[in-house]
Amino acid sequence: MKHLSRDRLRLAATYLVIIMVMSVGFSIIFYNVSAQQLERQRGPAYTLVTGNGPTPDLDTFLEQRAGEGKLQLATELVIINIFVLIVGSLLSYLLAEQTLQPIEDNMEAQAQFVGDASHELRTPLTAIRTSNEVALRNSRLTLKQARKVIESNVDDAKRLQELSEALLGLLADDDKTLFQHRVSVQSVVADAMNLVMPQAIEKDISVDDQTANLFVRGNEQGLVRLLTILLDNAVKYSDKGSQVAIKTEQHGRHIALRVIDHGIGMDGETQKQIFTRFYRADKARSRSDTDGYGLGLAIANKIVAAHDGKITAASQPGKGSTFTISLTAN
Ligand code: ADP
Repeated sequence: MKHLSRDRLRLAATYLVIIMVMSVGFSIIFYNVSAQQLERQRGPAYTLVTGNGPTPDLDTFLEQRAGEGKLQLATELVIINIFVLIVGSLLSYLLAEQTLQPIEDNMEAQAQFVGDASHELRTPLTAIRTSNEVALRNSRLTLKQARKVIESNVDDAKRLQELSEALLGLLADDDKTLFQHRVSVQSVVADAMNLVMPQAIEKDISVDDQTANLFVRGNEQGLVRLLTILLDNAVKYSDKGSQVAIKTEQHGRHIALRVIDHGIGMDGETQKQIFTRFYRADKARSRSDTDGYGLGLAIANKIVAAHDGKITAASQPGKGSTFTISLTAN
């Protein structure tokens, strides 16, 4: 971030130049106007005549006074400009810092994102490379062994594809005009359920859809994705034969959509971190049946934010979790 502090100084210098050009320009105009006024007050040259004859030099005296006045004015303006220079330097630096801070934060977040993403991409890539290298070194590789290597390569390639799709989901467009449609909650839930039912059936989990006929303002595709993430997690983090429910409630202009499961649940510490990119609770990591990269809820959070909505989680370890999304009715 060294170049940013150089940029900060450059921006501060630009602000200072603008301030000083204005201050000096204003001082010059003020000086000229005041000097003209002093000249006018002095009036035309004349000689005062008294009983003793004309006084020698009233005009010289007045000229001297006007000269002194101008000098005093110039000195005061120089002092003011020095003061403006000092205060202006400080203000310019603070202003430049304030202007660049959001850009700096954004760059840091981008760098963090690239770092996290590369770290996650490296694992399947290393697996592909290692299994291929080992196979290549084996001069008596059988067809059966080769098939095994290819199979594991296909699995890793699938993981890479899923991961890159999830990463793209985090960068999805959040143009506000895309989120102003009238969307049926029932149709969103039906679409999401279609996508998740195969996993639910495999684990013998029943999904009880109690969605009311309500409409929200938003983006249908985004909302299906959001609900799919929540339902997928509800199924993923529940034991075989468990139950999942989807409920809706309307409170004035707000519609709450809840996904309730009776799965493994989360402790308070975990709940605080679940919306952070790449976060996975240890329990989730250690369970072999729970594939994931810790990106689902980060994407869900982004979709909800694009809808100006809210997402919260209430959970108890061993008892289950309830994810609530609050959206605007339409
Ligand atoms: P992933 O499921 O791919 O790990 P998510 O971002 O969807 O990533 O979830 C982050 C973490 O939050 C999960 O690893 C899990 O520990 C926890 N979690 C999410 N949903 C649930 C749930 N319904 N029940 C229990 N834990 C959950």
